Order: sequence, then C-alpha cells, then structure tokens
Amino acid sequence: MAKAQIPETLLQECIHCGLCLTACPTYLTTGLESESPRGRLMLMDFIFQGIADPPMHHLETCLDCRACETACPSGVDYHKYFERYQKEKYALLPLPLIRRIGLKLVTSRSGLSAIFRIIALAQKLRILKLMAFFSDKFRGLPRISKTSFIKGSSSQYPAFREPRGAVAFFSGCVMDGLYADVHAATVRVLRWNGYTVDIPGDQTCCGALHQHTGGYSCLGGLLRKNIQAFREHDTIINNSAGCGAWMKAYGDIRFTTKIKDITEFLLGGDLISPVNRQHGWRIIYDAPCHLEHAQNITNAPAELLKIFGYEVAEFPESHICCGAAGAYVLTQPDSSADILKMKMADIGRAGKVNAIVTANPGCHLQLRKGCDLYAPGTAVWHICQALDNVYRLDAQYRKAFNLSN
Ligand code: SF4
Ligand code: SF4
Repeated sequence: MAKAQIPETLLQECIHCGLCLTACPTYLTTGLESESPRGRLMLMDFIFQGIADPPMHHLETCLDCRACETACPSGVDYHKYFERYQKEKYALLPLPLIRRIGLKLVTSRSGLSAIFRIIALAQKLRILKLMAFFSDKFRGLPRISKTSFIKGSSSQYPAFREPRGAVAFFSGCVMDGLYADVHAATVRVLRWNGYTVDIPGDQTCCGALHQHTGGYSCLGGLLRKNIQAFREHDTIINNSAGCGAWMKAYGDIRFTTKIKDITEFLLGGDLISPVNRQHGWRIIYDAPCHLEHAQNITNAPAELLKIFGYEVAEFPESHICCGAAGAYVLTQPDSSADILKMKMADIGRAGKVNAIVTANPGCHLQLRKGCDLYAPGTAVWHICQALDNVYRLDAQYRKAFNLSN
C-alpha cells in the first residue's frame, strides 16, 4: 500500500546510489543524510504526498546549487523538485515586508544607486570596517565607487581594430554598483576583441533573486521588460553566472538563445591573443554553480585563463558551492559560514596563488570574505578582470583605453 503512494516522477528517478553525496556542500559540512540530495528528495516526497508540511529545516538549508544534478548518473533534475517545494512553501507563507522592499529595490536604478551611495559613505567613514569587526556579515564588500558603470540611458562603445560585430551587454542590478570595475573590464575586453558593445538603458534586473526568494509576482514584468529592451540584439553578453542561468531559463526561445556568458562567447570566437603571456601569475578558478551546474559551462573559463598565460592550480573541489547562493548568505548565515570555511580550506591546499578567480558577483563577495577571514592578502578577481589584467601588460591596450597601468 505504501508503495502505491510513491510518485513515479520522484522516488523512482532517484536510485539512492549516493553518488551525489560528496558534491553536496551541506552533506559535506554536516554529515547528515537529511542534509543530502537524496535525503532532501525523500523529504520533498513526503511533502508532495501530504505526509509532512513545508517548510522543513533540512530543505531550507539547501543552496539550490545543483551540484547534485551534475553528479547524478540517473539524471535526477533536483532543482525542479526544489522549485516546486519552494512554490508550495511561498504559497503558504506571505513574504516578509523587508524582503518585499529588497526585491522592489533591486529593480529600481535610483533606489539601488541611493543604497550604494550610503554604503560608499559608510565605507568612507569606516563604519563598515567597524561593523565587520563585530560581525563577519559585513565582510567582503568591495570599495564602492561613487558612480555605477551604467549611466542610466542607453550607451554604445565602439569596437577597436576591424569590427567583428555588435553585442548587447546585460548589466544586472547589484553588480552595476558593486562591481563597476568588472563591467568596465568586460566591456574593454569585448571592444579589444572587435565588438561594438550596446548597453540598452531600459533593461532591468533579470529576476533571479525574486525567483530564489519567492518574489514570483514580479517575474513576468521583469521578463517582458528585458525581452523588449534587447529585442533588436542577436547576442546578449552577461558576466554574472546567476543572471545568465536564470535568463537562459526565461522560456522564450527567441530570447534565451541570445544569452551568452562572456566565457563561452569569447572562447567560441576568434580570440585576440594577449601579447604578454609570460607574467608567471598563478591563480585558482572556483566555478560558480550557476555556470558549471546550471549552464553546463565547465571548461571555457579555465581554458581562457590558460590561453592568457595563467598557471591554473589543480582544484578538484572547484565544483562545490562556496556558500553564497544568492540570498542564502543572508537567510542561512551559519550554514553559509561553515561552507565558506570548508571552501577556503580546500583552496588553501592548492598552495600559494596570486588570486582566486570567479565569474559571479555573489561568489565574488563570499570569496572576498573568505580571504579576509582565512587567506589575508589573496586577491579575488572576476574572470574578466583576470583577462583584462593580462591585456593591460600591452602598452597599446593601455593607450587604447587610457589606462595608467
Ligand atoms: S546521485 Fe542521483 S540517483 Fe543517486 S542518490 Fe543522488 S539523486 Fe539519487
Ligand atoms: S542543490 Fe546543492 S545543497 Fe541542495 S541538495 Fe543539491 S548539492 Fe546539496
């Protein structure tokens, strides 16, 4: 009788082989079956059958990193079940006011700009440094520049050398204020490679944060706005793994096929080789989950880094989440901190490196925090900064973009 209750779609897909266990960060840090993918699949099955009620603590600590999907030989689409669980949970629980305000703010350029101005002031007055002394939550923030990279209205940056084509650039929400320097490096690399870069001013947040945190009611509007903003472009470059993964899942094939992560785009084209590859820099690449597991972009970043002369340290644990996972760092701070500690210990075993390289703003913040705590003096770079740093060794590149070094 119990057997008849088991839905074909879930438990029959998972054969309980356990091959996903060592890819799951929460299983690795807790050792609990209930904090593993197959344990969570069982729990979700109880919920879907009406045997248990959401939310359940062991499901709340899931990062939705999807490393279990890459590891699973049976092809269990874990995230589809997890998304169903979240939808059922949020249907029962009203979103807290603070979350509703936060989700509204990330879609407002003026709202975000006001917040970043406040953070910049707090950094100037050293208030954030003081707060970081009392709580690790305030560690990892980059120095916020006074101006964001995107100026509000549409802009176009011309290609250098023989133009190869035009691309549009997706600037995101928080990344524009947090990492204006990463956006600047990305656009330089594209222009140097012969691409004109268009930045539509009416684009908006992709909605990934809304999707992860229950803000479903906003999703349709954000999707329509972005489809409209990029309607005249064939290729939309993005440099944030989380945004790219979510936009590739928008559901409108005319839009999703245009989305390209910067690494897959550059490697797929006729890349301009850097003049100086003999710099001797050694880096470690930590794969963002939404690049490796959600977009299946596994080799392109490390291949690019090698083309640019980097010695890429062996890092077998690169595929394991760093504990950032969108809003997870805020909603599950203890678990996030444990996972970060494990990640930094794994990184430490790779020996001395000049920088840790990533390709997602959330991972960037988290790894910066990890370096502050466990590896002071180690830099964290977005992959576009890593490429830009090597191009900058060429005097022509510096002259072209008016760079001092
Ligand atoms: S690897 Fe796949 S089939 Fe095996 S236990 Fe994990 S989810 Fe189930
Ligand atoms: S999505 Fe990530 S945290 Fe969640 S069960 Fe899978 S591997 Fe573990």
